[in-house]
Amino acid sequence: MIPYTTVEDASITLGRNLTWFETVWFDYSATKSDFYVWCHTILVLFLVFSLAPLPLVFVELTGWFDRFKLQPKVKYSISDMFRCYKDVMKLFLLVVGTLNLVSYPSTKMAGIRNGLPLPSFMEIIAQLLVYFLIEDYTNYWLHRWLHCKWVYEKIHRIHHEYTAPTGYASPYAHWAEILILGIPTFLGPAIAPCHIMTFWLWISLRQIEAVETHSGYDLPWTITKYIPFYGGAEYHDYHHYVGRQSQSNFASVFTYCDYIYGTDKGYRIHKKLLHHQVKEEAELKKGPKYY
Ligand SMILES: [Zn+2]
Ligand SMILES: [Zn+2]
Repeated sequence: MIPYTTVEDASITLGRNLTWFETVWFDYSATKSDFYVWCHTILVLFLVFSLAPLPLVFVELTGWFDRFKLQPKVKYSISDMFRCYKDVMKLFLLVVGTLNLVSYPSTKMAGIRNGLPLPSFMEIIAQLLVYFLIEDYTNYWLHRWLHCKWVYEKIHRIHHEYTAPTGYASPYAHWAEILILGIPTFLGPAIAPCHIMTFWLWISLRQIEAVETHSGYDLPWTITKYIPFYGGAEYHDYHHYVGRQSQSNFASVFTYCDYIYGTDKGYRIHKKLLHHQVKEEAELKKGPKYY
């Protein structure tokens, strides 16, 4: 609950007029309990889980972008994708929803706030950058651990059932994996606490990024192509394509961890072979050369 009774009170305390967005936030949240505001996190995640992969259903069903499909032999029907969404939603309600409710005290302890002032643009950008770096590094090591024989067979194998990933399959995993890989996502906000708005933006962007890397399409116009060291769809698709044996491409967002720790060697050899194959096919298309 925001500790001001009116907008005027808030303005006096802050020493300036509220921005339009702060006034809207004040009007909405001032009389609501902190727990009630925190529970909106479930709604935010539900919307992102449901809506972010939706454009990819259109892409898959129309076949308009098949030339960018990473594993063209695998096609998903509407019922395939709906089944995946249903499985994801079951886990969402049982695991993510419950976790959200019980994690409220820890978010208070971590210092996630929902009052005024709202964070500045630069504060949001700086925090998101830190969260992505922390998430990427921690997720890399946990994901490597999930590929140990026993853990893979008992837990991570479920996520790898989709050897050709699709948008709705990005959170498709064993319930234990959802809990384990939730740690890197919450670690950033726990180390560098933020406003709840930034937190919602962070978990939304993280999920949208996961949907993109599981899209199954290497679309050439995505803005993520301009982010240095960004892995993307092709990078993670290879991880699913080869499965456990590869021990390759573990990172969730960037590529530098795999490069530094040498877990992208298989992928780089694969890319080199593919490049030669494409070159040879182009030469053959030109026809035989007679000298
Ligand atoms: Zn894996
Ligand atoms: Zn995956």
